[in-house]
Amino acid sequence: MNQRFHSYSRRLLWVGLLLGVALVFWPSRTLRSDNFVFYLPAGAKTIPIETVGHGDYLPLLQVLNLVVHVDGMQASQSSLKVWFGQSDVEVHLGDRKVRVNKAWVPLEAPVRAENGEWLVPLGFMASALPHLTRQPVQYRVGARRVFIGEARPGSFSVRLKPLADGADIMVAFTETVTVKTEAANGRWILYLGGHPIEPLETSYAFQNPFVKTLQFDDQDGVPKLIITPAAEGLNFYPLLAEGGRGLLAEVSKQRTASLANLPPASLPSGPPPPAPQGATAEEIPSVEGVASAPLIILDPGHGGSDPGSHDKNGVLEKDLVLSLATRVRAVLLASGRFRVSLTRSGDSDPTFDRRDTIANVLHASVFLTFHAGDFGAASPRAAVYSFEPPAPSEESSLPGPAGMPRLIPWEYVQVFELDRSRELAGALQQSLAAIPGLSVPKAAAAPARVLRSVGNPAAAVEIGSFAPDLDSAPLSALSFQQQLADAILKGLDAFKKP
Ligand SMILES: [Zn+2]
Repeated sequence: MNQRFHSYSRRLLWVGLLLGVALVFWPSRTLRSDNFVFYLPAGAKTIPIETVGHGDYLPLLQVLNLVVHVDGMQASQSSLKVWFGQSDVEVHLGDRKVRVNKAWVPLEAPVRAENGEWLVPLGFMASALPHLTRQPVQYRVGARRVFIGEARPGSFSVRLKPLADGADIMVAFTETVTVKTEAANGRWILYLGGHPIEPLETSYAFQNPFVKTLQFDDQDGVPKLIITPAAEGLNFYPLLAEGGRGLLAEVSKQRTASLANLPPASLPSGPPPPAPQGATAEEIPSVEGVASAPLIILDPGHGGSDPGSHDKNGVLEKDLVLSLATRVRAVLLASGRFRVSLTRSGDSDPTFDRRDTIANVLHASVFLTFHAGDFGAASPRAAVYSFEPPAPSEESSLPGPAGMPRLIPWEYVQVFELDRSRELAGALQQSLAAIPGLSVPKAAAAPARVLRSVGNPAAAVEIGSFAPDLDSAPLSALSFQQQLADAILKGLDAFKKP
C-alpha cells in the first residue's frame, strides 16, 4: 500500500489535471432541433416545430389533439375557438395571450396563422397547457420537450476523465435508467429507458483526442446519448453501474484489463455489441452468504500486471493480500453473520473505479481493501486507514446546477461516508490491536485512492512489514492470517452494533 500512498503527490497533480479539463470542457448551446417531444403516459409523440421569424411555434390543434379529446371548434379569419369536455381555448391572431376557460393567459410571442394552421409559441406549454389537462405538466422554459402525467423527469451530469490511452466517460443519472448500446455511423448510441429524462444540457464538447462530443437526442421521441469519437478505430466499453444510476464507458484503442470482461462495441463496422443490461453475473462478482446479512466487499490490492511490493524472497504483495482476503472471506462466511464478495479472486487487476463500482452496484455495507507495506523495523504490524479526502477547495467545487437536485459526483462519494468510515477503521484497529504481539497504531486517515468512490463505510487494512529487504514468512503464516481474519470479524461485529 505504501507505494500507493507515496504516489499521492502525483495523484494530487492528476486531480489538478482533471479540474483543468473540467474547465475546458463546456456545454455548448442547445442544438437546433426540428421536433417537439410530448412525453405522455401512453408513450412519446413528436410534433414538428415551425420557425416563424425568430420564434419557435407549434400548431395548436395538433397539440390539443395529443393532450385532450377535442369536441368541436369554430374558426374565423382572426380567431379560433376549440371545445373539449367542460373546457375551451380561444386564440386571436396577433395576440400575446390565449383565453383558457374565460381566463386570459399570457404568451411570450403573438399567435400566428401560417398555411391554414394556428400557431402558438412554445411558451404555451408553460402558461396554458397546465390549465388544459388535469395531469401534471412539467415544462422547462425553452426546452423542446414536455412531460405530461409522468413522474418528474430525471436528469444527468457528464464528466470526462482522460486516460493515457483513451478516456472514461462518466454519466451520473438522478434516476435509475436502463441503457442499450448500438454502434452506428461511426458513433456510439446509448438508448435510455426506464425513466423520462430532461437534459440540463443537450450537447457536451470535449477537448480530448479520443472523445469529441456527447449529445442528448430525443428528436424521434426516443431519448438517447450519442457519443462521437475523435478518431477512428477506437473501442467502447460501457458499464451500467450504481444500480442504473451511473454509466461508466471507456473509450480506448486497447481493451484494458479493468473492463476486460465487457463486450466491446467496435467502430466503424462490425455487429452491434450485446447491450449492457445493467450489472450482469459475468460483470460483477458473485455474493456468498446468508441473504439478509450485511455485505462485506473484500478488496485484495493490486493483481495481474501490478504485483505491488515484494519481499526478499520474491513473495509478491498481490499474492499475500489475496491469501489474507481469502482467509477473511472464510471466517466471515463461517460466522453466518455476513455476506461476502471479493473484487478479485484470481490474478486480475481491476481499476480503482472498477473495484468501487463492484461495491456500489452490490450495495455493500462495508468495503475493506487489503495491502502489505513497509513499516520499517516494526513487525509484525498492522494499520487501518479511513479515506482522507482531497483539499476542501476541490470538495467545495462539486458541481450542482442551481435549482436542480445535486448529484454526488462519482469521484467523491466516499466524502459522504467519512464519519462511518472512521468508526469502522476505529473498530478494526481495536480488534486487531488485541492480537498478542501485534503492534497496531491508532486508526488514521490516508488518501487511499481505492476508497475514494466507495458509497459505503470503507477502510484500508495494511499489514507488515513487507519490503524488498525483509522475509515476509511470518505474514504468510496461516496462523497469523487466521488471527487477523478473526480480529476483522470481531471488528465488523463491533462496527455493526448501533
Ligand atoms: Zn499495496
